Amino acid sequence: MYGVGILKGLGITLKHFVDTYVDDFKWGIRRYTSDEGFTARQGLETEGLFTVQYPEEKIAVPERFRFVPFLVVNDQDHATEPDADWCTSCGICAKVCPPQCIWIIRSTDPDTGRPVPQPKDFFIDIDICMNCGFCAEFCPFDAIKMDHDYELSDYDRTSTHIYNHAKLAKPLSYWQMIAPSRAEQERLSREADEAAKAARKRK
Ligand code: SF4
Ligand code: SF4
Repeated sequence: MYGVGILKGLGITLKHFVDTYVDDFKWGIRRYTSDEGFTARQGLETEGLFTVQYPEEKIAVPERFRFVPFLVVNDQDHATEPDADWCTSCGICAKVCPPQCIWIIRSTDPDTGRPVPQPKDFFIDIDICMNCGFCAEFCPFDAIKMDHDYELSDYDRTSTHIYNHAKLAKPLSYWQMIAPSRAEQERLSREADEAAKAARKRK
């Protein structure tokens, strides 16, 4: 009958509204003041409506969450090449970036003037970046990844929102921390590629 769907929808809204007060009554002030209460409000079993008290409270982002990209570099305690770039300045990310917000300055050998496969500088205009993740998907060297840091607002875009290499570079251990399963998958895939290459050479 016409209107039944609307009434059902309103009933569900009313149920959630009432459940909010029932849950508040069960938990008391702990629902809003304790870590346990926050976890319960964010959990699948939560009842009713809830408000996250941002910025004091933040919802944990899923591993596949993506915001402005960063560049992977070796950790400082790397055995042979601490802080070394994974980026070879191949330029693929800049080519596929839909709003064209990546600029790369390639390094050159000071003696020969020939290109060296590493960036001299690397810029991303983070206000133009639309967080699509294409750069990370297409990079053949796992050298650019999508970050989880979304608190980037500032008052002056020109001096703070055009990220250079110094601002973009983050160690591999950071990527392993924010995306452990993807970092592990990529490590296994790199190892498999290396093994296949070595096997081809032996033939
Ligand atoms: S695609 Fe990867 S390796 Fe190539 S320039 Fe971009 S970040 Fe560097
Ligand atoms: S996430 Fe998308 S828009 Fe942002 S730099 Fe990468 S390719 Fe460009």
